[in-house]
Amino acid sequence: MRPASVVFGPVKSRRLGLSLGVDPLVPKVCSFDCLYCEIGPTKVHTIERRLYRPTEEIKKALQERLADENLCFEVLTFAGSGEPTLHAELEELIIFAKELTDRPICVLTNSSLLWRKEVRKALLNADLVLPSLDAVNEEIFQKLNKPVKGLCASKIIEGLKKFREEFAGEIWLEIMLVAGVNDHEEEIRALAETVIDISPDKIQLNSVDRPPAYRQAKALPLNKLREIASLFKGEVEVITREALKEKSGKRKPSAEEILALISRRPAPSSEIAEALSCDFKATLSVLEELVKKGRAKTKRHQNQIFYYA
Ligand code: SF4
Repeated sequence: MRPASVVFGPVKSRRLGLSLGVDPLVPKVCSFDCLYCEIGPTKVHTIERRLYRPTEEIKKALQERLADENLCFEVLTFAGSGEPTLHAELEELIIFAKELTDRPICVLTNSSLLWRKEVRKALLNADLVLPSLDAVNEEIFQKLNKPVKGLCASKIIEGLKKFREEFAGEIWLEIMLVAGVNDHEEEIRALAETVIDISPDKIQLNSVDRPPAYRQAKALPLNKLREIASLFKGEVEVITREALKEKSGKRKPSAEEILALISRRPAPSSEIAEALSCDFKATLSVLEELVKKGRAKTKRHQNQIFYYA
């Protein structure tokens, strides 16, 4: 994959709509090394908060992108090459972004640093925080998320509860379910109990939808995910690609916009068409040309072909 850019998209996110992404890190810095990670294995496994990209570089890139009068996006999302809360000046970046746009500011996080007061404080300026919690059982947490030594599920859960008390914005909690790892009834019931105490505005159940960092990460079928969803209280939805299929648009995409999309992460043709709001068949013909010319490649994952560049 090409090096990720600081500001990317807008992409049509299954969770967020048309999302302009801001990546405060470089590939791949994370406190976890999840089996299912779509970015690949973690290169810098750490909980050290640092300026992985200079703050001024991020601000400049954002300012330049937002100066485009034709730019259309629904939310601005801090996400990308790892765990965004590891950027030491995330608070300053969120405040800066809020000054530049009236769109909601979202942050994706693996929740691993929410036990730290300064991290919770940094996120208080966001409008929507999308944390994740995949396991409450310590052994399962270690196996699935492979955290930095010393991080434990109970500490993270405490951080999530404290954050809920302090944060006035919305929290959409994502739970990634991996077949044979965290999908047995005892763990699901424990998760459902814990989630009541965290009290998110939404619970979003997901499964392995893209080529994972580690081959042992396998997806759950949609019917099983729906069954699991029924065990949670509150607003709960399944957000796998299959569950959220949308109708595609009518226009034909350009080769360049497809390349911009698939150089960030592999995607199947149906999702590319959806993300670019384009006709599916027209998207297929452009993809075919790109593969013929060697500008895009394909790989198979769970009986689907993913395109990448
Ligand atoms: S927390 Fe996110 S970025 Fe980090 S390893 Fe897990 S899935 Fe990848």
